Amino acid sequence: MVAEDLPTLAPSLPPPPGYACHHSPDPDAALDCFFATCHAAADIPTDGHARLVTAAPSTDQAARDGAAHCRFFPRMTQASQLPALPQRRIPADNTFLIGQSAGGRDILGWRFGQGDKILLLVGGIHGGFEGNTVTLVNELIAHFENTPEDVLPGISIILIPTANPDGLALGRQTEGRFNANGVDLNRNWGCEWSPDAVWRDEQVDPGPHAFSEPETQALAAFIRQLQPSAAVFYHAAAEGVFAGDCEGGHGSDQLAAVIGEAAGYAYGEEFSAYPVTGTAASWIDGQGIPAVDLELSTTRSSEFDRNLRGVLAVEAWLSGR
Ligand SMILES: [Zn+2]
Repeated sequence: MVAEDLPTLAPSLPPPPGYACHHSPDPDAALDCFFATCHAAADIPTDGHARLVTAAPSTDQAARDGAAHCRFFPRMTQASQLPALPQRRIPADNTFLIGQSAGGRDILGWRFGQGDKILLLVGGIHGGFEGNTVTLVNELIAHFENTPEDVLPGISIILIPTANPDGLALGRQTEGRFNANGVDLNRNWGCEWSPDAVWRDEQVDPGPHAFSEPETQALAAFIRQLQPSAAVFYHAAAEGVFAGDCEGGHGSDQLAAVIGEAAGYAYGEEFSAYPVTGTAASWIDGQGIPAVDLELSTTRSSEFDRNLRGVLAVEAWLSGR
């Protein structure tokens, strides 16, 4: 379909005067609008399935059209790049392969317990830059191997120590946050994915579109198959627990409180140091699954003891749900 053929904004949502949007037939695509100036996102009508939150004016397009060209990105990307949802599948083996990285490295998972309520713990999505989170999840694996009674009846714990093995191989340098394509894997998911992703005050590459990276595809497909009861992603070192939020109300706030209280990390505040887009925890929240980012307090220690307390508290919480 060429640009001239694109319909204007859906008739059920009439645009304000002097304003036109081009809809793509692809529900995951950005919405292109033309204004005198780019409006605040809240002013933009949406087509029902997506809340559009990010505006990025394009000055070259504006120069061509004599108008501001504003792009708005879907709050919740339809996971059309992901395979169709099969029946729920819990790995039978204690150790299993989830997928491979852009650089061809294996992403492995460990399972403990036989219960129907699954707690998913993920380290190292920011690779070697946050390598202490990989250490933490590996220490938790060793703990549950040696202390199987710490997996409560009715619970399974699935641990993925290294969500970003390419970045881990690069060690504690900025490039170690990214995969072999240079993509930040915690900006590549389908909730509020934006091409204008940042880390602190630096631009980072979120990939060409949501779910573009093999690590994200593998982990998202695994999560959709697994249907865990809760998911925790470990980061360093903003010290605190931050609830995933994509429309909210899925228990992520409660999960943050349970793990934050038990492990002694601050919780209850939104992450506000800089805007984050396309994160794993928010996409999982949008799937109806409680999910949090837990930021360790330094990049050196695994903070194992307090985080074991946090995991045990989440197990107890899930047991009562
Ligand atoms: Zn991180």
